Amino acid sequence: MSMTLGLSSQESIDAEVLRGCTQCGTCSAVCPMIDYMDYSPRVLNALRLSGRYDEALRSRAIWDCTSCYACTVNCPKQIPITETIYSLKRASMRAGVYPHRFTTPVLVKEFVHYVHRGGRNSEAWMSLLLYLRTRPFHLVRFAPLGLRMMRLGRLSLRHESIREPAQLRLVLDALEPSRGGRP
Ligand code: SF4
Ligand code: SF4
Repeated sequence: MSMTLGLSSQESIDAEVLRGCTQCGTCSAVCPMIDYMDYSPRVLNALRLSGRYDEALRSRAIWDCTSCYACTVNCPKQIPITETIYSLKRASMRAGVYPHRFTTPVLVKEFVHYVHRGGRNSEAWMSLLLYLRTRPFHLVRFAPLGLRMMRLGRLSLRHESIREPAQLRLVLDALEPSRGGRP
């Protein structure tokens, strides 16, 4: 199902920058992740240029991007492609249209959630939630390893927190006031 999503100011800036794209395809040719992507970086630009923003937001390609910057440094028009993909990721999470069982966005969401909550990441809880939400059957395979690590004191289910998490939240909320610093 397609829906029209409003552009934030950053996304409008991206759209302006992308107007310089000549569709030469250099970004796609140098991308090491191209074989895994449903849309190449060049096609992502084309989708946005032709007003098919929703399709770009829902693509898996933006989550396959490893931020290696090869496209950006090789673009003959100096288009900051990696940054525009980052804004697509943010917009995709905001709109809730990211692939919900795909590892990268789920990991990002959980990581930001933990940092926002207490200023610290929790390896044990993040791994647990990641497997539950993406590949629950793998949890059975890795459970014995997790339990052994807990017995050895290398993994803990304790929620750790920095001394003043509220202060960090103030900073995060100031950065992203509309969403309380969350993705
Ligand atoms: S390399 Fe630059 S100009 Fe060429 S298709 Fe990619 S973004 Fe467009
Ligand atoms: S930054 Fe992303 S899109 Fe660009 S070349 Fe690297 S993996 Fe491909």
